Formats: sequence, structure tokens, C-alpha cells
Amino acid sequence: MFKGWLIDKIGDVQTVALTDLDEKDLPEGDVTVRVAYSTINYKEGLAFTGRSPVVRRFPMVPGVDFSGIVEESNHPGFAAGDEVILNGWGVGEVHWGGLAERARVKGEWLIKRPEALSMRQTMAIGTAGYTAMLAIMALERHGLTPASGELLVTGASGGVGSFALALLSTLGFRVVASTGKLAETEYLKSLGAAEVIDRAQFSLPGKPLARERWAGAIDSVGSHTLVNVCAGMKYRGAVAACGLAQGMDFPATVAPFILRGITLYGIDSVYRPIADRAAAWERLAALLDITKLDLITQERPLADAQAAAEAVLEGRIRGRVVINVAG
Ligand code: NDP
Repeated sequence: MFKGWLIDKIGDVQTVALTDLDEKDLPEGDVTVRVAYSTINYKEGLAFTGRSPVVRRFPMVPGVDFSGIVEESNHPGFAAGDEVILNGWGVGEVHWGGLAERARVKGEWLIKRPEALSMRQTMAIGTAGYTAMLAIMALERHGLTPASGELLVTGASGGVGSFALALLSTLGFRVVASTGKLAETEYLKSLGAAEVIDRAQFSLPGKPLARERWAGAIDSVGSHTLVNVCAGMKYRGAVAACGLAQGMDFPATVAPFILRGITLYGIDSVYRPIADRAAAWERLAALLDITKLDLITQERPLADAQAAAEAVLEGRIRGRVVINVAG
């Protein structure tokens, strides 16, 4: 038996409990992992509260990412004792996830822990940091450099936003943070924001084109915010869109695309091929300033996962919550 969070649904009623689970109920997979750390992302907020149908099979152990030690493996790439990490692949949504002491997954979903990072650090980064890195790599491939001009990060005090700021400033970009938490201005500046602005200016319907300001942007908010960010891009600028914290809609016009030649990149971290993942984790290991990592992260025990998930969804969390599953 092992401890884990279990989300179930009977009729329209969702139940959530930290409970004893049986190894024989673990899903199919060729690698069994003793989970060390998992995290609370926006998705866990949606899963624990049932506000959006991210959990598509019940009962489900939530947790879209984890780090841990391989206990048993029938996969040629992994052996007992290997330290591994996992993000995405539908884990915590359609396949039991990381918010439990054991996980059984497909070996092809795992990557080995990067040498430069501890298991705790990999989950302090977690899906949020890895997604921010994928977004930055898309902007780099577009050709953006610090000489291109200012970059904007929306949802800046959140998980993806905090990492986007920290990484972009380390890379030498002048980066502006858009936030609803102006009280966190000092935090955002210590991560590397050159300027902090109120997200209210992006939240409501705006004009098809605005003053050309941003060479690039990373948006985890969607809806009117993403539309207004696109409207304010410089000629041939690029936006990497990865989230929907304001909404899933995109009530835009084509004006910035056809008059300013801007590009909108969609960032998916969940089904990203392994080669891209390995490249992103290598960059993270090389780039990330560990003092900034500590600033972004707070650690909580497994028992606190539900409360933390609710707090993330209510916008009460700054940065990220890493869950110490092994205790
Ligand atoms: P967080 O909750 O940590 O951050 C989201 C931030 O968005 C908040 O901190 C807040 O920042 C801002 N925000 C929240 N509500 C609103 C609102 N109504 N209007 C405008 N801004 C708002 O979440 P994560 O960083 O973990 O994830 C961010 C988004 O990215 C989520 O939608 C998530 O689902 C998505 N995501 C997508 C991935 C992918 O593969 N595409 C992977 C990971 C995440 P502030 O207070 O500073 O304004």
C-alpha cells in the first residue's frame, strides 16, 4: 500500500481524498517509480476543484509531473535506482500521476534527471519552468535576441511567468512583467524584470493595433490579454502562447498578423517529443540561477496538495509549489 491523492466522480459529484492506494491498482506501464517530488500547477488547481475537465478518467491520481527513483523497470532505457523526471503525456489526466508515493508509467515518457539538478530542483522547475524554456526556445528560433527590443511576460507572478522572467533576464533580454499583483513588484524585479506593469491594461477588449512596443512576448493568460499583446507587437515580432489563466477564447483580429507580420507560436509541453524535452532540460540546467529558483519555490508536504491547488487557482500563490511526496 502507498499514500496518494485520489480524485473520483460519481454522477456529477467529484470526491477528493488523500488515501491508501494498492500497488495492484497502479495503471499499466513498464517502469515503477518511487516518487520523491511532484508539484502544483494550474492544471492541478483545475483537477482538484473539478472546475475544468482536465481529469478525463476516474478514479485518478492527479499530478502532471514528478521526479523519483526507479524501483522496477522492464524498459531497456531504465534500471532500478535511476533518478528520473516526467512531465505531461496525460499523466494526472488520463494516467495516474505524481501526487502519490508510487507511479507506474511508460519508460518512453521518462527522462533521466539532468546531472546539474537535484530531484527537488527538477520539480521546483517542474512543468512551469520547462514550459517557459520551450517558449523561450521558440522565440530564439524566431531570431529574437536582446538587440531585438523589449519582451513582455504576462501572468508574471505565476509559475510559467516567474521562470520566463528569470530565464529571459539571465539571457540578457530587457523583460517587462505584467501582473495583477503589483504588491509583488520587488519579487518580480528580483527575478529580473526591468519594469512591472498592471495587467489591467491588457484585460479588456482593445483596438486591433496598439503602439508597437514588444519584440516578443510569453503569454500564459490567453483571452483579451493575448489579443492585446498581439496588437502591441513590433513589426515581425513573435508571441509564444502557452496558457489560458484569463480564458481559452482568443477574440482577435488579423490586423497584427497581416499588417505587422507578427507570428503566434503555440507552446505545448504535454506531448512534446523527447528530443525537445531533453534539449529544454539541458538549457534549464545550464541557465537557471539557483538563488532565483529558491525565490520562486515554496515546499509543502503531500497532505497540503489540495489546499495548494485551490490557492493556485484563486491566484493566491506567488511562483510555484513543490510537493515533497516522499516526506
Ligand atoms: P499560475 O496559476 O502559477 O500562473 C498564472 C498567472 O496568470 C497567475 O499567477 C496570474 O499572474 C495570472 N492570472 C490568473 N488569473 C488571471 C486572469 N483572470 N486574468 C489575467 N491574468 C491572470 O499557473 P502556471 O504558471 O502553472 O500556468 C499558467 C498557464 O499556462 C495556465 O493556464 C496553464 O494551464 C498553462 N500551462 C500550459 C502548458 C502547456 O503545455 N501549454 C504547461 C504549463 C502551464 P499575475 O497575478 O502575475 O497577473
